[in-house]
Parts: sequence; structure tokens; C-alpha cells
Amino acid sequence: MFNKKTVRDIDVNGKRVLTRVDYNVPLEGGEVVDDTRIKATLPTINYLREKGARIILVTHLGRPGGKVIPALRLDPVAKALSRLLGVEVKKVDETVDGQAREAVRNLKQGEVLLLENIRFNCEEKANDPEFAQKLASLADVFVNDAFGSAHRAHASTVGVPRYLPAVAGFLMERELVQLSKLLENPQRPFYAVLGGNKVSTKIGVIKCFLQIVEAIFLGGGMCFTFLKAKGYSVGNSIVQKDFLEEATCILKKVNDNEAKLKLPVDVVVAQEISPQAEWKVVPVDSIPDGWMGLDIGPETIASYQRSLSDASTIFWNGPMGVFEIETFAAGTKAIAETLANSNATTIVGGGDSDAALRRFKLEEKVTFISTGGGACLKFLEGVELPGVEVLEDRD
Ligand code: ADP
Ligand code: MG
Repeated sequence: MFNKKTVRDIDVNGKRVLTRVDYNVPLEGGEVVDDTRIKATLPTINYLREKGARIILVTHLGRPGGKVIPALRLDPVAKALSRLLGVEVKKVDETVDGQAREAVRNLKQGEVLLLENIRFNCEEKANDPEFAQKLASLADVFVNDAFGSAHRAHASTVGVPRYLPAVAGFLMERELVQLSKLLENPQRPFYAVLGGNKVSTKIGVIKCFLQIVEAIFLGGGMCFTFLKAKGYSVGNSIVQKDFLEEATCILKKVNDNEAKLKLPVDVVVAQEISPQAEWKVVPVDSIPDGWMGLDIGPETIASYQRSLSDASTIFWNGPMGVFEIETFAAGTKAIAETLANSNATTIVGGGDSDAALRRFKLEEKVTFISTGGGACLKFLEGVELPGVEVLEDRD
């Protein structure tokens, strides 16, 4: 259950409120090309403005590796946020030093200031206590609205709360409330559809979900590690060798209940990942040498759709194929449509799954899309997120 204090539980009038957001958004040619994560924080920012707070936003963007990378400056983000809020967002080129301090001093009630990319400072990832204290000294209270970064123990997520009262923002609250429902009392039958490129990032959630769902349907690049573990020859399909043993172990465990972990029965194969590539559909036991599986096949789609038709809850993470290319998008599109047309509670996690839903214009048709990829999976694995743990409990 969600039992953390939120912005509603504290007085923010006139206060300097340091708000950690996750504006790790894609940029192209100096513009934000997907503002989903920015939009998701508007309820918290608008609430703080209405209550007369002085809002200091802090986020990371990309992986600058602890130094200033001009292409990862946050000016395009400030511009996008200004447009969405309808007021000018002030932006400084420093995170904690002179310019930032000066800007905070001049910040009036209801105004919004964006600090420079926190990961320009190597102390952020190292969770350096002195740096965290310096960051904290800019403000009176701390609000964490960065669900997407809650699984990381960095200075701006777990460091600052050592020095300031710390509560959750509305996005953080919404994410945790929605995702908790999957773990606490899901309506059954409850199914998970899991795909994506790497089994390494999903193995935890597969193991965990085997305990709590009626069935898991696998697709995407990661299913080839399982198919190979089963003894199939998978050609050049993506396989993570380090995880073959664990995949074998999982398969052995579910062997007496094959309906529990479903693997594709056919796949779309090609010799290269390109829109021009020649492609064909083959049964999983007939992937030719030199070819790779890039989507689930039509029989698999039909079978997954049939099985999902009686769902009361569906969790989906990870595209079923290389959906960025039309030729290999059918599996992902079919799953997206199945969720969109289902009466079940449908919850989607993962940046690329979210992008896929938007591409098919189905993002409004699911119950909830998490803004956190890694954080969402960690949470569903039952891991307590460090950035959440440090927030104050509600009495
Ligand atoms: P999410 O961000 O939703 O968690 P992932 O990051 O795990 O998803 O995986 C998304 C990526 O996986 C996509 O870029 C997609 O092209 C790739 N992918 C899906 N299926 C395959 C496949 N069969 N082979 C290689 N890559 C794949
Ligand atoms: Mg991804």
C-alpha cells in the first residue's frame, strides 16, 4: 500500500521546493521530440504554483558521465515546459553553484526554475553527501516526482532527503498506487506479456510474475534466449548467452505447467534489420542459419490473442518485435490492439512499449502507462525503490 506523504501533506506556501523530476526525454535538433514525461509532472508543478511555492526543478538527461556535454543541456526542456505551463520557466547553466544560487534567491512565489542537468556533476551518481547537502541547501523541502529514477540511489534521489523533509509528488503517487494494484489484489485472470530486446533486464520480473500471474506470454528479442535454452536453433537471433542457464532453469520449473510460460510457435525472420530486408514466417523449430527472428508470427499472435481474451488484468512490457520497422511491427501492434480492445485493467511499462502504443495511437485506450521502465520492473519484482523508501511515511 502507498503510505508516503505527498505534497498535499505539507505546507509549501512561500517555501523553496526542490522537485526531482525525470525529464530524461529524447531530443532531436535541439527540440524535445516526446514530452510525455514532462506532461506527466504538470499536476505537481501546477499544484505547487497554486499554493505559492517557489519551484526548483532538478533532473538528469542522458548519460553525460559527470561532465558538461553541451548537447545535453536542458534549454530545450525548459522551452518545452514553458510552453506546456504557459509561463516562462527560468533556466540556469549550473546545478548548485553561483548562478543557481542567485536564481533561487530571485525566485518569486509561483515561479519555476530549472537547474542544469544534474548528471553534469560526477557527484550525482556517486551519491556524494557533500553534494547532496549543497543541493538540499537550495531549498526548504524536497518533492520527488521522478518515478522513472526512483530505482537509482543518487544524490538527487536519496541524498537530498537526508537534509530536507521529503515527500512524493502526484506522479510518483499515481505510479505507485497503480502498480501496487498489480501486486496487491489483481483481478483474475491476470496475464503478463513480456518482450523487448534483452532478457537480462526482464528475468527478474519473469521469475517474480511466475508466482503471481496465470500466464506469461513471451515475445521480442528476449524470447530467443528461451527458445535456444529449449534446444531450438535460433540462427542469428539475439541471444544472451549468460542467461541461457537461468532460462533453462525457469523452463524446467514451469515444465509441468506449460500453459504458464508461453513461447512463440512461429516467428518473422530476416537476414538483416532493415525496412528493405527480405522476410518470411517460419515455425520456431525451423529458423534457418543466418536468419534472425524479428517479430512473433501470425499463429503466435492468434494464440496469444485467444488466451488474453478472458483477461481481467494485463501487464505488458517490451515490444514483441522490432516495431520501429513496419515489416516487424505486426506482433507489437496486435498486442497493443488486444490491450486497447480489452475490458481488462491494462497496465503498460517501458519506454519503447509506450512509444509503440503512441505510434499506433492507442495510448488513450489502456488503463495506465508507467513513465518508468527500469523503475517499474524493479517495483514489480518486489524490490523496494530507494528513492521511495527515503520519503516520509504518512502516520
Ligand atoms: P521497453 O523500453 O518497453 O522496456 P525494451 O527496451 O526492453 O522495451 O526493448 C525494446 C527494443 O527491443 C526495441 O527497440 C525493439 O526494436 C527491440 N526488439 C524487439 N524484438 C526484437 C528482436 N526480435 N530482435 C532484436 N530486437 C528486438
Ligand atoms: Mg527500452
